[in-house]
Amino acid sequence: MGPTKHGHDHAATEGWAVRATEALADAGYRRGGARASLIGLLDAQHCALSAAEIEEALRGGGGVARPVARASIYRILEELEGLKLVTRVEVGQGLARFEAAREEGHHHHMVCDACGTVIPFEDPALERAIQRLARRVTFTVAEHDVVLHGACGECAG
Ligand SMILES: [Zn+2]
Ligand SMILES: [Zn+2]
Repeated sequence: MGPTKHGHDHAATEGWAVRATEALADAGYRRGGARASLIGLLDAQHCALSAAEIEEALRGGGGVARPVARASIYRILEELEGLKLVTRVEVGQGLARFEAAREEGHHHHMVCDACGTVIPFEDPALERAIQRLARRVTFTVAEHDVVLHGACGECAG
């Protein structure tokens, strides 16, 4: 394994879309088309979308995007997930949402089990606690994703 190096390692300053486009090309995937549309859409989000929302957004599009079939969306999401460029957020009942795996703006999710709403949150103390835990256990923590399940403000009322 091991990602292809380009003689530098400034992923955080390059922006996710550039990094994702290069990584797909390095992995032998064709540039442009549906992949470019999907990367552009995910890059513009600050949190996760479902495949249905992605399909809808690409169909509606502000003129720049073009329609992409659901099957293609799932296939491209799998490619991006395999390259660790996209994070899958499980929201229950076998449903998932997908978001750009950025190094900056790392956050976690609260999922409403009643309506499926996903609320992002950041918590520096939680990040430190996970790092402390990682130092204490005989286990190499490569990545983490925290999902809190419950009811959103509207559904809890
Ligand atoms: Zn998110
Ligand atoms: Zn809800």
